[in-house]
Amino acid sequence: MITLDLILPDTRYPIHIGHGLLEQVDLLLPHLPVPKAAIVSNETVAPLYLARLRQALEARGVACLSVVLPDGEAHKDWQTLNRIFDALLSGNAERKTTLIALGGGVIGDMTGFAAACYQRGAPFIQIPTTLLAQVDSSVGGKTAINHPLGKNMIGAFYQPRAVIADMDLLATLPERELSAGLAEVIKYGLLGDADFLAWLEANMPALRARDSTALQYAVKRSCEMKAVIVAEDEKENGVRALLNLGHTFGHAIEAGMGYGAWLHGEAVAAGMVLAAAASAELGWIKQEEVERVRRLIAAAGLPTRAPQMPVEQWLSLMAHDKKVEAGTIRFVLLRRLGQAAIQPGLDITLLERILRANS
Ligand code: NAD
Ligand code: MG
Repeated sequence: MITLDLILPDTRYPIHIGHGLLEQVDLLLPHLPVPKAAIVSNETVAPLYLARLRQALEARGVACLSVVLPDGEAHKDWQTLNRIFDALLSGNAERKTTLIALGGGVIGDMTGFAAACYQRGAPFIQIPTTLLAQVDSSVGGKTAINHPLGKNMIGAFYQPRAVIADMDLLATLPERELSAGLAEVIKYGLLGDADFLAWLEANMPALRARDSTALQYAVKRSCEMKAVIVAEDEKENGVRALLNLGHTFGHAIEAGMGYGAWLHGEAVAAGMVLAAAASAELGWIKQEEVERVRRLIAAAGLPTRAPQMPVEQWLSLMAHDKKVEAGTIRFVLLRRLGQAAIQPGLDITLLERILRANS
């Protein structure tokens, strides 16, 4: 097991990464102020892992209640959030009862937001069960639910007490979800570490075969990079925006195609190709480097071309992104492979060219 520490101005917490961690409740116990926990999971993950976690906790004297929510992004909403509060209140959960998120990013985001709100703040622990949640959503304290008018629009910054990433849980993850998580892993290489990018090129087959040593290294390196960036800029006033590489285009794809048609990671993958192509247009990277990005994304089992949409639709979808400031779309592009930079605004003819070439 590897343990990273995320150090923030007001708190710090460990990120444990390894194998067989689900039942190692010694990792959890130091973070429970009282021996009471509420495990939040969903209908897919609960049958696989909930009983093992619950029994391990109960064997150590922790009283547990559990909430099993319907699966899917469509349920990351107010009604489903309320089911967590119903269970907490009817189960007499106290302010010091620890909420444990056992699931992917949807469960992690909802549980974190529930913890931020329940009695004005209950402790919370993340046990991410998707690759995407292990490398991205469980770390950094962004929590939210969706509103019919926008994704992740209702939420809070609220940090967990600990993150426990168990590689064994990825064994049951559908192939497509694994690839979606790999998109965010590739993102870290592109935005900040050329050596890691080269490592990913060499190890992509091992990652897709779920080689546990390779997965553990990829999760570790991703979490290290996210932890450094979040420690520097917890509330996204500066450098944290670099984590949105591929996301401005990606969010437009997700919204334009209808949420759920493209997985987030798939949209980000095509978005990163567009970001690379725009960077080449600006003369920041070479065309052959765009092709290198495209090859790696294809090797991860991800789409390298965006769906076709009129440029006006792209612009209007991108203008709705949370990253828009004073009407200017702030693009995260590649100064070189392994170094991202913010570019405020792109020329419309340049956009048209890269969209035509990559859709
Ligand atoms: P998800 O939570 O919907 O999980 C994907 C699917 O995999 C679901 O059907 C889930 O039930 C299933 N699943 C989860 N773990 C499994 C396992 N071990 N075995 C078998 N099936 C399993 O999706 P996700 O990709 O994990 O997360 C996406 C969400 O995360 C989005 O809502 C997004 O907004 C959010 N997110 C948040 C942040 C953040 O910083 N808070 C960052 C990135 C994404
Ligand atoms: Mg993302």
